[in-house]
Amino acid sequence: MIVADRLLATFLDLVRISSPSGQEGAVAQALMDRLRALGLAPQRDEAGNVWAMLDGQGEPLLLTAHMDTVSPGENVRPVVRDGVVYSDGTTVLGADDKSGVAIILEVLEALREAGAAHRPLDVLFTVAEETGLQGAKAFDTGRLRARLGVGLDAHGEQGTIVVQAPAQNAIHVRVHGRMAHAGVNPQDGINAIRVAAEAIAAMPLGRIDEETTANIGVISGGTATNIVPDLVSLRGEARSRQEAKLDQQTRRMVAALEERAAAHGATVEIDVRRAYSAFTLTEDDAVVGLVSDAMRTVGVEPLLLPSGGGSDANVLNASGVQTVQISTGMEAVHTCDEHIAVADMAQAAEIVGACVRV
Ligand SMILES: [Zn+2]
Repeated sequence: MIVADRLLATFLDLVRISSPSGQEGAVAQALMDRLRALGLAPQRDEAGNVWAMLDGQGEPLLLTAHMDTVSPGENVRPVVRDGVVYSDGTTVLGADDKSGVAIILEVLEALREAGAAHRPLDVLFTVAEETGLQGAKAFDTGRLRARLGVGLDAHGEQGTIVVQAPAQNAIHVRVHGRMAHAGVNPQDGINAIRVAAEAIAAMPLGRIDEETTANIGVISGGTATNIVPDLVSLRGEARSRQEAKLDQQTRRMVAALEERAAAHGATVEIDVRRAYSAFTLTEDDAVVGLVSDAMRTVGVEPLLLPSGGGSDANVLNASGVQTVQISTGMEAVHTCDEHIAVADMAQAAEIVGACVRV
């Protein structure tokens, strides 16, 4: 049913269209054209997401992938070597997540060709996943019929089903000290860089436990060597698959800042925002059963795994569409060594085909 050569050709066409986050217009247009050619009536929402519906029988299913890619991802020149697709080494390949998009298109092609009976399908291609799941967050899931979803946006071994992903808090901080001349009266100043440095040094960061991580990723402040700096900005994050642990980790980071600021007579403004919520599904959840059965039909043993990162599935699960991510076969994502075996991509398409057939 799945034609590997056709899937590869679709994938190569897609990766050649540049689509860094926020600039998905050209690839969205190409996808609208393809969906129309397949007899669907695709639409684009204000955020730029593309979605379409296909009638069928039984319980509706959502198929979803994201259109944007990470940097460096412009002017990708794919190279096929021994059945594996690579970039030319100067960019990512963009299999994350053009492989997911290509797999969905191939399943639609194959269904149309075979005239096979299938579930009603909702198809959603999102924008700006890589920059904080912005497309999925902006999408009105009230437009979907499906309450179960299969996302094609995981890497790793064939059979990987991501059933668990962390929640994330985004933490923005401004440390206010007091400016003074560094050579004349430094004793009258409060060095915001020193306060920030001590606070960061006092925080638990990195891998906290199996389910929890934390990072300070951006720091900026100060203007000249002869001025005691009065302002430092920090941006960081904490993630955990357990809400209680996320709260505890976030509190520790906040406490380190407040404690060090107080010790120096500085002040801190701390803004903690929920970037996305966690989800946990088990083999008893309908979508996990559906995908596991489909995998066994094509001879792949399901591997139910947690993820350390968020994806559109976090947003979809939070809005009531029970969604897992499955591996498309992509490897070394977010690097210039990113690659994907055509056979793995074709097998993922067979799995999706088995999910949608009735
Ligand atoms: Zn992705």
